[in-house]
Amino acid sequence: MFRVSTNLGINQTSRPTWTEIDLDVIRANFESVRNFVGREYKYLAVVKADAYGHGAIECAKELEKAGVDWLGVAIIEEAIQLRKAGIKRPILCFGGVWNGQEAQFLEYNITPVVLSLEQASILNSFAESKGRRMNFHLKIDTGMNRVGVRFESLPEFVEGIAELNSIRLEGVMTHFATADDLDEIDFTNRQIQRFEAGCRLLQEKGFNPELLDLANSPGSIVHPNARGNMVRLGGVLYGLGDDILPKGIPLPELKPALSLHTRIALIKELPKGESIGYGRTFITKRKSVIASIPIGYDDGFSRRLSGKSSALLRGKRMPIVGRISMDWLLVDITDLAGKAKIEVGERVTLIGESGEEKILAADLAGESNTISYEITCGIGNRVRREFLKKV
Ligand SMILES: *Cc1c(COP(=O)(O)O)cnc(C)c1O
Repeated sequence: MFRVSTNLGINQTSRPTWTEIDLDVIRANFESVRNFVGREYKYLAVVKADAYGHGAIECAKELEKAGVDWLGVAIIEEAIQLRKAGIKRPILCFGGVWNGQEAQFLEYNITPVVLSLEQASILNSFAESKGRRMNFHLKIDTGMNRVGVRFESLPEFVEGIAELNSIRLEGVMTHFATADDLDEIDFTNRQIQRFEAGCRLLQEKGFNPELLDLANSPGSIVHPNARGNMVRLGGVLYGLGDDILPKGIPLPELKPALSLHTRIALIKELPKGESIGYGRTFITKRKSVIASIPIGYDDGFSRRLSGKSSALLRGKRMPIVGRISMDWLLVDITDLAGKAKIEVGERVTLIGESGEEKILAADLAGESNTISYEITCGIGNRVRREFLKKV
């Protein structure tokens, strides 16, 4: 049995490995970005991938209260989950329309992004069969070359949808490939020009979509000419600005909303010369005190961080030693244990602050060759969430 030595009156019959998501911070990040970008725009909050690992339902509820106009998800299942939780704002589903999903779009009042003329026809036939009119947004591919109607093919698309009377074009969007990279500003501007040309073409053909959105987080903040009349914010809402926004330019103030914690499960003393963990990648160079920490790569703490990252204990940075395994990692607490009595059950922080020390998701991303988004999205579902909120 371990002794709980710090706060959180959480149910301690389960493994004490948890994230804390501060909903007040998410709200503050939204307000900070809105003040920076401008109140004249509409705001779509992207809560796909369980709000980048922060909990889609709770984040969506908080952002809805904070005044976002739209919510954005990748797949319809995510949108339905939000509707079932009582979310009322319009929801845009970026992932297109897959055959058979049309009824769900209608039933749950979810707005699809249409990625091709074929998808528009599928939607139209369904709407017609129900005697209804369904809204959709069009994604124009202006250079990402991932999904959407490529800008050169827009004339055919427009001709095609002119005959589809049971669907209505409510919005037009595009997505940037390099909005975070100031060296690529010419490419971003080219995407903007192609988008604007597409919008003119639509207008000439009698379409008047009321929502025009291009910008993701870096696009909204870095490129004022890319704001259309709505911006789509993901990462910045969660305070993941450190590795997705350029340096050296004015930025809104942001704070990470998520921290990741666990507690020491076991402490052992090992003599010099003992190997630790799978593959014996670490050999003790001195008489060592090693703490076993109940978090592993299934929980999102990548094996690629083996031998690189550290854990925070009592405000001190302690090295993670040996291989990170599926359920456990090992921390060398020798230095601290020489000065104080460290106990089983003490809180260990893997992302977040402890005393003066701080580990960002972006730090772990840098050490494992990815971006902060993948770190928070990757936190496994065995990790419980605690939502913090003052008011
Ligand atoms: C994920 C996503 C966003 C949000 O991107 P961030 O960089 O997190 O702001 C915006 N638009 C679309 C279409 C997306 O898929």
